[in-house]
Amino acid sequence: MNCRDALRLLFDVVDNEASESEIKKVREHIQSCEKCAARYEMEQKFKKCIEKKGKFSPECEKLRDKITQQLDDIDPGSGGADLFPSPLN
Ligand SMILES: [Zn+2]
Repeated sequence: MNCRDALRLLFDVVDNEASESEIKKVREHIQSCEKCAARYEMEQKFKKCIEKKGKFSPECEKLRDKITQQLDDIDPGSGGADLFPSPLN
């Protein structure tokens, strides 16, 4: 399983909508992937916040912003040129 598949299933797992085999696959990936483990943890925090405060709580939105920001730090995405400099540049 790659990160893309893991992240897609991650939301289902957090929402308890994934099948047992999916959960197992995601867990296995998380154990070997720090990036997805961090994401999983953050999504769970966000979910708990929503359960506690209600769906459109600004507090949860703030948390989500923070999550997104932290994820950007972890996963540079298309801006990852600094980590993997192209020899063409
Ligand atoms: Zn991953």
